[in-house]
Amino acid sequence: MIPYGRQQILTSDIEAVIDTLSSDFITQGPQIQAFEQAIAQACHAPYAVAISSATAGLHLACLALGVGSGDLVWTVPNTFVASANCAVYCGADIDFVDIDVQTGLLSIDALHTKLTQAKQQGRLPKVLIPVHFGGASCDMRSIHALAQQYGFFVIEDASHAIGARYHEQPVGSSLYADLCVFSFHPVKIITTAEGGVVTTRHQALAERLLDLRTHGITRDAERLTRPDEGPWYYEQQTLGFNYRITDLQAALGVAQTQRLHDLVAQRQALAARYRQAFDALGIVYLKVPESCYSSYHLFVLQIPAEHRKASFIALREAGIGVNVHYIPVHWQPYYRDLGFQQGQFPQAELYYRQAISLPLFPDLSMAEQDFIIEQVYQLQHTWS
Ligand SMILES: *Cc1c(COP(=O)(O)O)cnc(C)c1O
Repeated sequence: MIPYGRQQILTSDIEAVIDTLSSDFITQGPQIQAFEQAIAQACHAPYAVAISSATAGLHLACLALGVGSGDLVWTVPNTFVASANCAVYCGADIDFVDIDVQTGLLSIDALHTKLTQAKQQGRLPKVLIPVHFGGASCDMRSIHALAQQYGFFVIEDASHAIGARYHEQPVGSSLYADLCVFSFHPVKIITTAEGGVVTTRHQALAERLLDLRTHGITRDAERLTRPDEGPWYYEQQTLGFNYRITDLQAALGVAQTQRLHDLVAQRQALAARYRQAFDALGIVYLKVPESCYSSYHLFVLQIPAEHRKASFIALREAGIGVNVHYIPVHWQPYYRDLGFQQGQFPQAELYYRQAISLPLFPDLSMAEQDFIIEQVYQLQHTWS
């Protein structure tokens, strides 16, 4: 089976991990800072804090912004459940903003309408979590302008989008957001096995993330509230977690980040071949806005909803590991129990019913890709 996504592990990655494994530190060592610096540099961000997963990063990002019970957090329905769960972890209420079905990205019109209504009802969100679906950035300039106007924070869920650019700036530069979260799960653009990074331009937020990822403990002499009792002394000043990444993972991350540019270029080249092949026959796929250089985490076909299931099964039977991203979060039983219903976010639901993610990863061969394209061509006859 050709998978829909797959990590690329080279000898240099393996050597980096082995070197760290035989060094003095395998958990909290020098590779973590090296990794954070590499990501900060790649993203043009002043601060980068590595954590154990993007899920942990989203949780800490919400906490760092003070999200708690009684607060409201908005995200989109077509995302991984973690984009919504992070708010619930903090005791906040979650709601969703519909998307643009052509791009899969948060709809600025829908956001605008929802904000107008929320203001009338006195129930504005504290935080908005736009998702850079498939590796293309949301319209962050518009989101930033609305955030200023209505007074909410913005956390970018950029799990799909390391290496992407928006108006020529790297996603993660956090020019239009308070915090930006990346995932390094193996199907994403670069990997640390499990892992993530949060970038920000705000020193105070970066410091809060550092405390929160390690139990809320600080050893910073200037911040101690009681007299220093000796070299062993530390203080737990807030309730944090063990959300640390390990030095082994960070070593892999450093090696992978060195190839970030090439890995995204390979995805771009494969995506261009898909686009060319599908444009020729009028086959519809998810569009990338012109303001974006996508990292192409996903290449999503949009086929008539009534044929999606049969086409999906046929592709799997042909040995193509297609997938669907994502079942709308508000359809999940957990969220239904919170009061959400089918039909509430029609564009996200329409998007979901038509979506099939095709294999896309740097080591996908052209022969494999040609085979996939051929199979899609054959299926197209069944769609009319
Ligand atoms: C993968 C993903 C996450 C979670 O990432 P982990 O690193 O596995 O915790 C969150 N949001 C989106 C959109 C994702 O794709």
